[in-house]
Amino acid sequence: MDREMVAYQCSRCGELHHPLHYVCRKCGGRDFAEVPLRGEATLLTWTKVYNLPEGYMKPFLGFGIVEFGNGLRVAGQLEVDQPECGMKVRAKVDVVREGIGQDYYGFIFIQKE
Ligand SMILES: [Zn+2]
Repeated sequence: MDREMVAYQCSRCGELHHPLHYVCRKCGGRDFAEVPLRGEATLLTWTKVYNLPEGYMKPFLGFGIVEFGNGLRVAGQLEVDQPECGMKVRAKVDVVREGIGQDYYGFIFIQKE
């Protein structure tokens, strides 16, 4: 099942926030509209992380920061074989950690077909 991540756009000044802030960091407004975040994004930077905390079933994880077409930047797990800064990736939302009795949802960036 697909889950959707959303950004929160200030209805006064249009500033995008993720995750939700209660007060707009730009204009102090308190009304936000939800904007779906998905699909294509540009990989800005990435890294590999070893020595993962308990709950990850992998020797290492890639992490990346991407920028969506609307300019919002988010961090997430990177599952691309040969990542390069500037490449286009596809963002989806899935379980990023298999915890004990608890799953965490977050961004996963995958190879664009
Ligand atoms: Zn604002």
